[in-house]
Amino acid sequence: MDDCIFCKIVRHEIPSEIIFEDKDIMVFLDINPTTNGDTLIIPKKHYKDMFEVPRELLNYIEDSYKSIYQIYKKKLKCDGLTLTTNMDYGQEIKHFHMHFIPRYKNDDVKYLSNKDILKDIKDIKKIIDENN
Ligand code: 5GP
Ligand code: ZN
Repeated sequence: MDDCIFCKIVRHEIPSEIIFEDKDIMVFLDINPTTNGDTLIIPKKHYKDMFEVPRELLNYIEDSYKSIYQIYKKKLKCDGLTLTTNMDYGQEIKHFHMHFIPRYKNDDVKYLSNKDILKDIKDIKKIIDENN
């Protein structure tokens, strides 16, 4: 994809802090980190989101988590890990990427949500269970 930022990173057309790359994947630091070592893991080939990535490649990406985590635990002394991916709303870059966010006991990362629009979980269950 010509105008995709992550494809440009893959082609080394724009600089990034690359942690690892091989023929299939690239692992690099997020330019706007949530925590120290906030990392993005992407397939080199352009897929819009996780649902488009072939199973074999997803497995390969998943396999990388363990080794990256071991390295970050040793080098960055992180205490935990949060993995997320955004799709459609909330996804800024339409090239599949897994956010690999090392967590630290003092990181104060919080998920803020608008409590005003939250329904009771019993109502949510009812909506999901409704036929049609
Ligand atoms: P999304 O909102 O699509 O789930 O996440 C996109 C992520 O890509 C954001 O966390 C953002 O900071 C990161 N990002 C956007 N542009 C660049 C860039 O040019 N280089 C790097 N390293 N990260 C980027
Ligand atoms: Zn791309």
